[in-house]
Amino acid sequence: MTRNAKWTMLGIMMATLGFAAGAQAADTLTEQVVTRAADLKTIEGPAATFTGKVTVTGLYGTYGDMKSSGGSATFQPGARSFWHYHPVGQVLIVTDGVGYTQEWGKPRVEIRAGDIVRCPAGVKHWHGASENSAMTHISICEEKDPGVVVVWQEAVTDEQYAGR
Ligand code: MN
Repeated sequence: MTRNAKWTMLGIMMATLGFAAGAQAADTLTEQVVTRAADLKTIEGPAATFTGKVTVTGLYGTYGDMKSSGGSATFQPGARSFWHYHPVGQVLIVTDGVGYTQEWGKPRVEIRAGDIVRCPAGVKHWHGASENSAMTHISICEEKDPGVVVVWQEAVTDEQYAGR
């Protein structure tokens, strides 16, 4: 599989939160690369890993010794990810709106534009919009095994989402 084909597949499969859908497909860089906003790719969050309407935009991928990749996800009101965890962890930077994040076994926590969430490695959680507001966050993850930044689990039920 070529590197570009691998990126395309990852972009479709990981579509998150995990975001390997980086616009930079080169293994190494020798000079700064500016990826233009108009060239970023946005896809619908697949129903296998998201509830409701979610769009995911790949921002950048790994290169050289840089093991992080980044993406942006916008959740429409009520939309959320499935439960999942990240083998290396995740940083969420909320850039717009109001949403929730919740760890398994703990209450959901409201998050707002400007808030930053750091998720430990291996901790089961979900994140998404609030009932009445969309929410956008940037997600930064690192790989442990190549291309694996998220491990998906079951859907967040309406009861779980509502905090009941
Ligand atoms: Mn996550």
